[in-house]
Amino acid sequence: MESCPVPQKQILVVEDEPAIAENIAFAVGTENMVARCAGTAREAAAILAEASIDLVVLDVGLPDESGFDFCRRIRAHSGVPIIFLTARKEEVDRIVGLELGADDYMVKPFSPRELTARIRAILRRSNGPAHAGGNGGGTALFEVDPARKQIRYQGRALGLSRYEFRMLELMIRHPGQVFSRDQLMGHAWEEPEASFDRTVDTHIKTLRAKLREIDPASDCLQTRRGWGYCLKVDA
Ligand code: CA
Repeated sequence: MESCPVPQKQILVVEDEPAIAENIAFAVGTENMVARCAGTAREAAAILAEASIDLVVLDVGLPDESGFDFCRRIRAHSGVPIIFLTARKEEVDRIVGLELGADDYMVKPFSPRELTARIRAILRRSNGPAHAGGNGGGTALFEVDPARKQIRYQGRALGLSRYEFRMLELMIRHPGQVFSRDQLMGHAWEEPEASFDRTVDTHIKTLRAKLREIDPASDCLQTRRGWGYCLKVDA
């Protein structure tokens, strides 16, 4: 039997508590991935600039910058998956309410094995920073450019509003997953409580129209009656 060499995934662990960072690095190593560790946001930024990182594990409480701010700085130029680590349950609301664009979170103390399971799950559905969801036929039609806040569909740029961009980008990162209007609104709007559910429907409608300008047969944005919306996996 021949083994098939697959490039090892590189995980950037941004955590200032050495014991926790070591535990994570060890668990990541046993899963045949490579951990790069940084104790500050500054070190992490330097690693991100020079290495090809597949996923970031990011502690909220860092000595030089809050994990939230650092996440925003990463998101300004990269769609690399991010898992937050938090010591406080109160911070979970802020992570979930997000706007921040994190993919998952874990509350300390957590089991390193649970963390590596989540890392695996996220890496399975994302094919790396530039090209989200490369495993699904439907999402393979999309290319996300987080820096330019632009999404290309079948090679052509979609002229999207901020809300449309955020909703579509979320669905591309999680192909097949059904999102309720609340979830889409929480992700895309700064003040979700000031909006109405129907706003989501309106933006979905204009999004569909834009996709159909490029491909009149496009049906990848699907309605799940009573639940919400999702991006079809095998378009
Ligand atoms: Ca910390």
